[in-house]
Amino acid sequence: MINLAYKQLLPGASIGIIGAGQLGKMLAQSAQKMGYRVVTFDPNPQACAFSVSHDHVCASFDDRQALLDFAGQVDVVTYEFENINGPLLAELADKAYLPQGTQLLLTAQHRIKEKEWLASIGAPVVDFRLVSDFTQLEEAVASLGLPAILKTTRLGYDGKGQMKLQSQTDLLEKRAELDELLQAECILEAFSPFDYEVSVMVARDVYGNCECFPVSQNQHEAGVLACGLAPAPIAGEMAQKAQEVAKMIAQASQLIGVLGIEFFVEGDRIVVNELAPRPHNTGHYTMEACNVSQYDQHILAITGRPLVPVKLLSPSLMVNIMGQHMPQLATTMDQFPQAVFHLYNKGQAKFQRKMGHFTILADQVEKLQNLRDESPFLKDWSQKYYSK
Ligand code: ADP
Ligand code: MG
Repeated sequence: MINLAYKQLLPGASIGIIGAGQLGKMLAQSAQKMGYRVVTFDPNPQACAFSVSHDHVCASFDDRQALLDFAGQVDVVTYEFENINGPLLAELADKAYLPQGTQLLLTAQHRIKEKEWLASIGAPVVDFRLVSDFTQLEEAVASLGLPAILKTTRLGYDGKGQMKLQSQTDLLEKRAELDELLQAECILEAFSPFDYEVSVMVARDVYGNCECFPVSQNQHEAGVLACGLAPAPIAGEMAQKAQEVAKMIAQASQLIGVLGIEFFVEGDRIVVNELAPRPHNTGHYTMEACNVSQYDQHILAITGRPLVPVKLLSPSLMVNIMGQHMPQLATTMDQFPQAVFHLYNKGQAKFQRKMGHFTILADQVEKLQNLRDESPFLKDWSQKYYSK
């Protein structure tokens, strides 16, 4: 029986998506495949999901009236954009149908609230301190030790709004950059000496069913995801631990939809890095490698339909295509004729901007791991993250 707080929306109903970047685009494509009508909302007139939406609204994320009018046009509202301001989000939840609720998003918007909540439900996190000025930073460094990472509590993404502190001299030499970061409230995090970074996409529906996708092992370059390998070639018990923690978080937050959870694996310890209560870059692989994608599960969950039990059909390697890679696109397509390419059509190919991705399937994950680690082409590909 469906909980009375939720509705079941059949194909033909309309879904409003706040944010029309690539995640919004792939959500819209999944919703349309299932027969839903899609309206997207984004301040960028060239937002890439507009071209695959039945209708769209171009307005600021802070434009209260535009957001409420947009929400009034659709049967259910969801988001790919995470930084909708708190009071506006509460109003949306009050006046429109937002089955995801507000609590998890508000928690994930603030790195300290996120870590405090995770710790309160028994999910391990790195040590951290709230830091509002330089004196507090010095105190936090004295108590956590170095290396450590200073991050703004809000609005950071793709490694933006953060700085690694390697040694005491960094405090002196990087003083100007640190002061700039400290204009906003920050968190100092102990540096995790991780062996791997992994992530899990977990979905939960209105009936309380929880489905995890296989664990992805991720490599970041300069704070931005470069590639992901699934199923993660790590010890089975570590993958199982990550999925257990993911399910615990999904249940504790009464999740509706999908949630991306990033982890650090340190020996036999697993630490949650951060939460993204929406589809996630490391879950793109599910489109080709699974019987159901992260986007499909999200649409099913927010329309009050039961999730599909997840099956991995094939190991996969997903590689991001950044702005600096675009001149090599044709060569890359020749290099990997077995790959499925996704291009988002985001316009200007800026350095470090996510423009697309490709996914390669193979019968054994070791073959893909080997390709990731040994292919001269892919090595060169990641070198390009550093050099403009
Ligand atoms: P973003 O919101 O930009 O994704 P993250 O907190 O995930 O921010 O940081 C980006 C990357 O920086 C991580 O994937 C990881 O590689 C590195 N990183 C962040 N925090 C830590 C930490 N405490 N210890 C070690 N590495 C970290
Ligand atoms: Mg991250």
